[in-house]
Amino acid sequence: MHYREKSHLSTTSISWLQNTAKVFYDFILDLFFPRNCILCKKDGVFFCASCRGKMPIDTTPMINHTFSLWRYDHETVRKALWELKYRGKRGLARDLAESLYDKILETLSEEELFQNPAGKEECSDRYMVVPVPIHKKRRKERGYNQSELLAKELSLLNHSLFILENKVLLKTKATPSQVSVKDREKRLKNIKGSFTIKNPEKIIEKKVLIVDDITTTGATLSEARRLLIKSGAKKVWCVTVAH
Ligand SMILES: [Zn+2]
Repeated sequence: MHYREKSHLSTTSISWLQNTAKVFYDFILDLFFPRNCILCKKDGVFFCASCRGKMPIDTTPMINHTFSLWRYDHETVRKALWELKYRGKRGLARDLAESLYDKILETLSEEELFQNPAGKEECSDRYMVVPVPIHKKRRKERGYNQSELLAKELSLLNHSLFILENKVLLKTKATPSQVSVKDREKRLKNIKGSFTIKNPEKIIEKKVLIVDDITTTGATLSEARRLLIKSGAKKVWCVTVAH
């Protein structure tokens, strides 16, 4: 797989520095935010191997370039996303990003090989990782955006593949929560026109990966994707933790 090979290009000293920083970062996180399994409370991890093994993989075929890791109709998945959304645990965002990572590599390398079977050039481009934004008023109330936590942790996992880009897609119009709107058509109408693109030069001809915690009808991701493509992005995929 091209992506994995690419990450080995970094020099030994850079890897050493990155590893040291990671160990230190984990130490600080564990000190202030002790980890317990979301479901069975076992110490040291957010998902113990046993609980992780029970989380159902989402097998829905990719629709509108959108794919997800787990199905939402499982207690541990729901709890994990609740903790991320309302408690903003960075360590949890990191664990979720690590789980997403393999799914992303697998899906995107298959997609790109399918679309571009002859060349490897496509794989050498990095992905701009764009979190689904929330309105600044909501961000102020909550103090963070859970999709941005995920996108940030994801980009930290592989600098040669992902670059965090959280200054391009903005939510400039506050809308009622999509949860309160039931069908897809109404959700699309609810979200339409609520995003704005800033600094479009950053994404022109770039490959983009939109990241969100959950998708239901896909309306929000579809609108974000439409706008990014309209603004010049070369290819846009969307990934979520749950569906
Ligand atoms: Zn457990």
